Amino acid sequence: MDRIFIKTYGCTLNASDSEVIAGILKEAGFELVGTEEEAELVIVNTCIVKGPTESKVLDYLAQLKKAGKKTIVAGCMPQALPEKILGYSMIGTEQLTRIVEVVEETLNNNTVVLIAREKNPRLNLPKIRRNRIIEIIPICSGCLGNCSYCIVKRARGELISYDKNAIVEQAQKAVMQGAKEIWLTAQDTGCYGKDIGESLSSLLKALIAIPGNYKIRLGMINPDFVKEYLEDLIKIFSSDRMFKFMHMPVQSGSDEILASMNRRYSASDFVSTVKRLKSEIPSITISTDIICGYPGETDQQFLETVNLLQESRPSIVNISRFWKRPYTKAARLKQLPVEQVKSRSRRLSSLFEWIAFENSKSWIGWEGKVVIDEVGKPGTGTWIGRNFAYKQVVLQGDYRIGQELMVKVTKATAHDLRAIPA
Ligand code: SF4
Repeated sequence: MDRIFIKTYGCTLNASDSEVIAGILKEAGFELVGTEEEAELVIVNTCIVKGPTESKVLDYLAQLKKAGKKTIVAGCMPQALPEKILGYSMIGTEQLTRIVEVVEETLNNNTVVLIAREKNPRLNLPKIRRNRIIEIIPICSGCLGNCSYCIVKRARGELISYDKNAIVEQAQKAVMQGAKEIWLTAQDTGCYGKDIGESLSSLLKALIAIPGNYKIRLGMINPDFVKEYLEDLIKIFSSDRMFKFMHMPVQSGSDEILASMNRRYSASDFVSTVKRLKSEIPSITISTDIICGYPGETDQQFLETVNLLQESRPSIVNISRFWKRPYTKAARLKQLPVEQVKSRSRRLSSLFEWIAFENSKSWIGWEGKVVIDEVGKPGTGTWIGRNFAYKQVVLQGDYRIGQELMVKVTKATAHDLRAIPA
């Protein structure tokens, strides 16, 4: 049978889509291989969230073309920017179950474009996990937002929530198969169920009732939904089956900029929510995203973002420079000079390094359980474990994926903790 290589760019949802594509193809008898060279056909699961990512994807496609590789483009580029990849076979984010058809036609030198938005089954499909102990479950696709800078909306569209029982069934199966981490993913997990009379709270309550030794990592959730579900989330997060981890993208500390971004919360909403979470759930890891240099951002508004970080002191901040994306409102606004955007992003990064290191230092001396879920950086002889707060704990020595052990934290850096077996 033909050999296929899958190249994945982008977010956890894309990673989950690639796992399903691999599972369906394997079941159909295709061989999945680890390099482009070995493959008769390459599936490129694309991301277009930022300009540089889009360029990287297009460069990679050009390389494959030069190498004469049969190629299928999947992911967000076929959905949002098909004009950039005319002539390629394309499969949309709602068409994963028809991947075999697209592969067979493309291997026969036919070009197939399958990007219609349809409510096709998305859960409990064949899959090959990237990491055998991590089960990624998309709970919905699309979102209820309309953020002025975001091209993902054009790619993933309006909210489609998946059936609660199907999500629970997939989680149960995964736990029985030995998964130790359940990652719930979506563009915005907070809007789950709004289109089907369900809610994120009711879903989480059903999931933590599943017996077994695992922890759930809640994916990206917008601050307005955290505020809406706050009391429920505080109760749900007290369960041992929830990682004490919350990824809540704030994007800016200025209410004027948030309004221009069409975000539905204020800077003080974010700060007070973080403070409440930290007081009710000790050691919770707060992760957030900031867009630096949004069009029109004044020095004062930038300082408001600096103040927000100093007040909320998140442990993880993904700082992005603003990139104008096609078909977005923000692309039509007057852009700031590139140098100004770069300098603000540098200033924010160094501030964040300091805050993160201060946060990490408080973990020195901590003793407790971690689960090894990753091999460390190549050549370092290290492994990565995760504790109850989804902290990255680096261990020297020989371990295995899924191993549980007691450790003691001896050192901290801005981005991880260093530990020894206790
Ligand atoms: S919530 Fe906003 S930023 Fe997130 S995917 Fe939807 S439109 Fe984009």
